[in-house]
Amino acid sequence: MSKQSPQFRRVLDQFTGYKPGKSPAAPGGRSFKLSSNESPYDPLPSVAAVIAEAATQVNRYPDNTAAALTTAIADRFEVPPEHIAVGCGSVGLAQQLLEAVGEPGAEVIYAWRSFEAYPYLTDLANAASVRVPLRQDAGHDLDAMAAAITGRTRLIFVCTPNNPTGTPVRRAELEEFLDRVPPDSLVVLDEAYVQYVRDPDVPDGLTLYRDRPNVAVLRTFSKAYGLAGLRVGFLIGHQPVAEAIRKTMLPFTVNSLAQAAAVASLAAESELLERVELVVKERDRVRSELLGQGWSVPPTEANFVWLPLGERSAGFAEACDQAGVSVRPYQPDGVRITIADPEANDAFLAAAAAYPHRS
Ligand SMILES: *Cc1c(COP(=O)(O)O)cnc(C)c1O
Repeated sequence: MSKQSPQFRRVLDQFTGYKPGKSPAAPGGRSFKLSSNESPYDPLPSVAAVIAEAATQVNRYPDNTAAALTTAIADRFEVPPEHIAVGCGSVGLAQQLLEAVGEPGAEVIYAWRSFEAYPYLTDLANAASVRVPLRQDAGHDLDAMAAAITGRTRLIFVCTPNNPTGTPVRRAELEEFLDRVPPDSLVVLDEAYVQYVRDPDVPDGLTLYRDRPNVAVLRTFSKAYGLAGLRVGFLIGHQPVAEAIRKTMLPFTVNSLAQAAAVASLAAESELLERVELVVKERDRVRSELLGQGWSVPPTEANFVWLPLGERSAGFAEACDQAGVSVRPYQPDGVRITIADPEANDAFLAAAAAYPHRS
């Protein structure tokens, strides 16, 4: 009787799975979830109606090719349909990418700290993570990332703006970096927050992928488009890249409600982008109020702010939680706070002002 329980891959012992943002403890009174970078707004009525209509057909499998959604994405972003792959959120696409390149010996480069799905999905795919520390200003160290490339580098994630710091990568440095990446390594620009970018020096990845066969762009309907609960995202890359990604897709991975809602969201994009504009204004207000309170806050181009509190991160998050505001601590680096509507943001600012130890 040596083995008394089912045996699993040893890699599972080394990591803890993805930890989603907490909901607030809510000790009486209103509470606010600022821990998952979601849109604070309810679905648009036009989108909700499409979801309700699609719900009447869920006895049928979804369209495995997501034809209507693919066409809508192709039209909106002026790319050929063969360049598009859809997935179960961009996390699902990140997993598909890693499934497509992962094997013993394959290396995956990404900045750290960055999106916390990269490490465990890389582990799961049997590839090796090469983490390159962020610069002092919380931005990607693209020089060091280029220097980390080897003959085994299969995939490089560039998360811009970076989750959780909000720091974007700028056009000149990114182009210089891309020129240094060999053609057999794929660079994926993870642009989950692209709609919140206002800095004109931050490029739209779609302008960079067109003449670069080893560059692809990840986008999601979860954040600016407000469909986090439905799980749909897409990749745009050259045909061999999109095709490889489609091969690793779990059948029917984008459900029929998600497909319909995503098409409706592209149709209602201008309305959704008005909401994004409100969040951007609030982001700038929250950051300047925090600076006024004496915190150090790196500039952010996303729908969140970052407080580099080091070892005090967990304590700060706990204090916010007690005030009914859940934020996301990344002990021992910092705390990420999602920007929401003014009432929620004010609740957070009050909790921050009440916290005794400023940075
Ligand atoms: C939120 C986020 C995603 C998107 O996740 P979905 O799976 O599409 O909900 C992808 N990348 C980054 C960096 C994110 O922050």
